[in-house]
Amino acid sequence: MDGRTQVWNIGYQRQTIESLLVQLRGAHIQQLIDVRESGGSRRSEFCRRPLANSMKTAGIRYLHRPDAGNPFRQDPTAGLDGYRAHVDARPQLIDALAALVRNHRTALLCMCANRAGCHRGVLLEALEGRGFETIDLPAERQLSLL
Ligand SMILES: [Zn+2]
Repeated sequence: MDGRTQVWNIGYQRQTIESLLVQLRGAHIQQLIDVRESGGSRRSEFCRRPLANSMKTAGIRYLHRPDAGNPFRQDPTAGLDGYRAHVDARPQLIDALAALVRNHRTALLCMCANRAGCHRGVLLEALEGRGFETIDLPAERQLSLL
Protein backbone atom coordinates (compact mmCIF):
# COMPACT_ATOMS: atom_id res chain seq x y z
CA MET A 1 0.00 0.00 0.00
CA ASP A 2 1.71 3.14 -1.18
CA GLY A 3 -0.82 5.54 0.25
CA ARG A 4 -2.54 6.41 -3.01
CA THR A 5 -6.26 6.95 -2.62
CA GLN A 6 -8.21 4.19 -4.33
CA VAL A 7 -11.30 4.60 -6.42
CA TRP A 8 -13.40 1.67 -7.59
CA ASN A 9 -15.65 1.41 -10.62
CA ILE A 10 -18.38 -0.85 -11.89
CA GLY A 11 -20.87 -1.15 -14.73
CA TYR A 12 -24.27 -2.67 -14.04
CA GLN A 13 -24.68 -4.21 -17.51
CA ARG A 14 -24.06 -7.78 -16.34
CA GLN A 15 -25.19 -7.20 -12.76
CA THR A 16 -28.42 -7.48 -10.91
CA ILE A 17 -29.10 -5.02 -8.13
CA GLU A 18 -28.22 -7.84 -5.70
CA SER A 19 -24.92 -8.70 -7.37
CA LEU A 20 -24.07 -5.00 -7.60
CA LEU A 21 -24.56 -4.70 -3.85
CA VAL A 22 -22.42 -7.79 -3.27
CA GLN A 23 -19.61 -6.16 -5.26
CA LEU A 24 -19.94 -2.83 -3.47
CA ARG A 25 -20.11 -4.41 -0.02
CA GLY A 26 -17.17 -6.66 -0.84
CA ALA A 27 -15.04 -3.59 -1.50
CA HIS A 28 -16.51 -1.76 1.54
CA ILE A 29 -17.78 1.01 -0.71
CA GLN A 30 -19.32 3.91 1.19
CA GLN A 31 -20.34 6.05 -1.74
CA LEU A 32 -21.60 5.35 -5.25
CA ILE A 33 -21.23 8.11 -7.82
CA ASP A 34 -23.51 7.62 -10.79
CA VAL A 35 -21.73 9.19 -13.78
CA ARG A 36 -24.52 8.64 -16.30
CA GLU A 37 -25.81 11.78 -17.94
CA SER A 38 -29.49 10.86 -17.74
CA GLY A 39 -29.63 8.36 -14.90
CA GLY A 40 -32.17 6.43 -16.96
CA SER A 41 -32.13 2.74 -17.78
CA ARG A 42 -34.35 0.25 -19.58
CA ARG A 43 -33.89 -1.83 -16.45
CA SER A 44 -36.02 0.08 -14.00
CA GLU A 45 -34.05 -1.04 -10.92
CA PHE A 46 -31.07 0.87 -12.34
CA CYS A 47 -32.93 4.11 -12.95
CA ARG A 48 -31.74 6.90 -10.73
CA ARG A 49 -34.53 6.87 -8.11
CA PRO A 50 -34.84 3.10 -7.51
CA LEU A 51 -31.06 2.84 -7.53
CA ALA A 52 -30.79 5.65 -4.98
CA ASN A 53 -33.36 3.86 -2.80
CA SER A 54 -31.47 0.57 -2.99
CA MET A 55 -28.26 2.33 -1.98
CA LYS A 56 -30.00 4.11 0.88
CA THR A 57 -31.30 0.79 2.19
CA ALA A 58 -27.78 -0.64 1.92
CA GLY A 59 -26.29 2.32 3.77
CA ILE A 60 -24.30 3.48 0.74
CA ARG A 61 -24.33 7.17 -0.12
CA TYR A 62 -25.61 7.73 -3.65
CA LEU A 63 -24.73 10.74 -5.76
CA HIS A 64 -25.81 11.35 -9.33
CA ARG A 65 -23.39 13.54 -11.28
CA PRO A 66 -25.04 14.17 -14.65
CA ASP A 67 -22.27 16.69 -15.31
CA ALA A 68 -19.88 13.71 -15.52
CA GLY A 69 -22.00 12.04 -18.19
CA ASN A 70 -21.14 11.77 -21.83
CA PRO A 71 -23.16 14.29 -23.85
CA PHE A 72 -21.87 12.70 -27.06
CA ARG A 73 -23.02 9.16 -26.34
CA GLN A 74 -25.75 9.29 -29.02
CA ASP A 75 -23.23 10.41 -31.63
CA PRO A 76 -21.32 7.39 -32.94
CA THR A 77 -18.88 9.60 -34.86
CA ALA A 78 -17.73 11.40 -31.71
CA GLY A 79 -16.30 8.27 -30.10
CA LEU A 80 -14.53 8.89 -26.85
CA ASP A 81 -12.28 11.64 -28.22
CA GLY A 82 -15.08 14.18 -28.00
CA TYR A 83 -15.72 13.24 -24.41
CA ARG A 84 -12.00 13.30 -23.58
CA ALA A 85 -11.79 16.86 -24.92
CA HIS A 86 -14.94 17.71 -22.95
CA VAL A 87 -13.31 16.45 -19.72
CA ASP A 88 -9.98 18.12 -20.50
CA ALA A 89 -11.83 21.41 -20.85
CA ARG A 90 -13.48 20.92 -17.42
CA PRO A 91 -10.77 20.36 -14.81
CA GLN A 92 -13.29 21.50 -12.19
CA LEU A 93 -15.30 18.34 -12.86
CA ILE A 94 -12.30 16.16 -12.00
CA ASP A 95 -11.57 18.44 -9.01
CA ALA A 96 -15.10 17.78 -7.73
CA LEU A 97 -14.85 14.02 -8.24
CA ALA A 98 -11.40 13.93 -6.64
CA ALA A 99 -12.69 15.76 -3.56
CA LEU A 100 -15.60 13.31 -3.22
CA VAL A 101 -13.37 10.28 -3.69
CA ARG A 102 -10.93 11.47 -1.02
CA ASN A 103 -13.65 11.63 1.62
CA HIS A 104 -15.26 8.20 1.17
CA ARG A 105 -14.47 4.83 -0.31
CA THR A 106 -16.08 5.47 -3.65
CA ALA A 107 -17.15 3.60 -6.76
CA LEU A 108 -18.05 5.24 -10.06
CA LEU A 109 -20.98 3.63 -11.86
CA CYS A 110 -22.40 3.62 -15.36
CA MET A 111 -23.88 0.84 -17.47
CA CYS A 112 -20.91 -0.52 -19.43
CA ALA A 113 -19.44 -3.75 -18.12
CA ASN A 114 -16.00 -2.80 -19.43
CA ARG A 115 -14.49 0.59 -18.71
CA ALA A 116 -12.47 0.40 -21.93
CA GLY A 117 -14.48 2.16 -24.63
CA CYS A 118 -16.71 3.77 -22.01
CA HIS A 119 -16.69 7.37 -20.78
CA ARG A 120 -16.16 6.01 -17.24
CA GLY A 121 -12.70 4.91 -18.40
CA VAL A 122 -11.89 8.48 -19.43
CA LEU A 123 -12.91 9.77 -16.00
CA LEU A 124 -10.81 7.07 -14.33
CA GLU A 125 -7.80 7.98 -16.48
CA ALA A 126 -8.22 11.60 -15.43
CA LEU A 127 -8.29 10.52 -11.78
CA GLU A 128 -5.20 8.36 -12.36
CA GLY A 129 -3.59 11.52 -13.71
CA ARG A 130 -4.28 13.10 -10.34
CA GLY A 131 -2.57 10.22 -8.55
CA PHE A 132 -5.54 8.00 -7.69
CA GLU A 133 -5.37 4.23 -7.97
CA THR A 134 -8.32 2.83 -9.91
CA ILE A 135 -9.77 -0.62 -9.25
CA ASP A 136 -12.27 -2.48 -11.42
CA LEU A 137 -15.26 -4.34 -10.00
CA PRO A 138 -15.96 -7.15 -10.24
CA ALA A 139 -12.38 -8.25 -9.74
CA GLU A 140 -11.01 -10.28 -12.65
CA ARG A 141 -11.00 -13.56 -10.78
CA GLN A 142 -14.72 -13.08 -10.16
CA LEU A 143 -15.35 -12.14 -13.78
CA SER A 144 -13.78 -15.41 -14.88
CA LEU A 145 -16.41 -17.28 -12.89
CA LEU A 146 -19.25 -15.73 -14.90
ZN1 LIG B 1 -20.39 3.59 -19.63
